[in-house]
Amino acid sequence: MSEVPTDGAERVGFFTDTSVCIGCKACEVACKEWNAIPEDGLSLTGMSYDNTEALGASTWRHVAFIEQPRPDGRTELPLAAQQSTPSPSPSSSPEDEGGEMRWLMSSDVCKHCTHAACLDVCPTGSLFRTEFGTVVVQEDICNGCGYCVPACPYGVIEQRPADGRAFKCTMCYDRLGAGQEPACAKACPTESIQFGPLDELRERAALRVDELHEAGVPEARLYGHDPEDGVGGDGAFFLLLDEPEVYGLPPHPVVTTRDLPAMWKHAGAAAVSLLGGVALSFALSGRGRR
Ligand code: SF4
Ligand code: SF4
Repeated sequence: MSEVPTDGAERVGFFTDTSVCIGCKACEVACKEWNAIPEDGLSLTGMSYDNTEALGASTWRHVAFIEQPRPDGRTELPLAAQQSTPSPSPSSSPEDEGGEMRWLMSSDVCKHCTHAACLDVCPTGSLFRTEFGTVVVQEDICNGCGYCVPACPYGVIEQRPADGRAFKCTMCYDRLGAGQEPACAKACPTESIQFGPLDELRERAALRVDELHEAGVPEARLYGHDPEDGVGGDGAFFLLLDEPEVYGLPPHPVVTTRDLPAMWKHAGAAAVSLLGGVALSFALSGRGRR
């Protein structure tokens, strides 16, 4: 399985703190503008005020709007509005005022996994690990085979129907090379998206969780931060206010190429036994003819 380079280079990443996201979608727009990504259309889904629906070839940052009845005992959202002023929240609705509905907002992105299955299966080298520890797909090398799409445990990478090649977040590789932060983090007005050295972000995230727990938000938890999880930890991790499934995230992601080394070992052993059997049958048949 692929590993993050250990040549001493500093690994960078994203910490997305969904507790302060206001759903403005500035991150989505900044991502599209900087990376010249085609538009997604302006039609609403009919399910929410979201028009982009999910991560995909043309949506490298996606802000999920989760509007649902508020489970008993759960913290009322958005937290940013509660903490600041008595002015009405931009996302409040008559249902919110009655305390029956809640909004969860979360800006999702490629996780830049430590063990990235997309990298493991790419036959052309289009997907590669950068010097920053991020995972990038090169559109001029991708041959459109699509192997990476089912390999991703998060359903992030997607082929663009018009040309077949696969696209996803590059963590603004060109900006990193110029010493700049990714466009989404730069544009986020609430610092819901934070960019920096991964170790530093993990420390900051742990403090934020403690802060929220002390403030009476016991649901706050981190997702994708643990280097011991099924993908070796994510280069893009999140502070969530409910179970991962509520946000459409797999609760226990596992790198889909995990069993490949064992499979090759078994296949090798089977091939050796087969060859041995063939050689033995030749030897026996030769002895029988004498
Ligand atoms: S989230 Fe999917 S596309 Fe992104 S690095 Fe991990 S396996 Fe690759
Ligand atoms: S820019 Fe920041 S606050 Fe606005 S939707 Fe994106 S993550 Fe949320």
